[in-house]
Amino acid sequence: MATERKALPVINPTRCTGCGWCVGVCPPHVLSLETAPNWQKKSTLHDAAGCTGCAKCVVKCPFDAITMVRIPDPADSR
Ligand code: SF4
Ligand code: SF4
Repeated sequence: MATERKALPVINPTRCTGCGWCVGVCPPHVLSLETAPNWQKKSTLHDAAGCTGCAKCVVKCPFDAITMVRIPDPADSR
């Protein structure tokens, strides 16, 4: 009964240029570009539950703005 551990992409807003490559490559379409108050576009994970953790966005990002971060699973405490 292994609980699936998942990693989620964390987007570094300083590195993200809003190019949108990660949005286009995400299979479940859980990334979107949001406009920040300064009118710059930034990639945002709008549906963390729908993210499969495939890391395609990380591979695709030309600016190394995305890092996969392992989410600790509370059901897996020892
Ligand atoms: S890890 Fe995969 S599913 Fe999750 S946001 Fe990136 S491309 Fe989409
Ligand atoms: S691919 Fe990288 S730089 Fe481009 S929008 Fe996504 S996170 Fe930002």
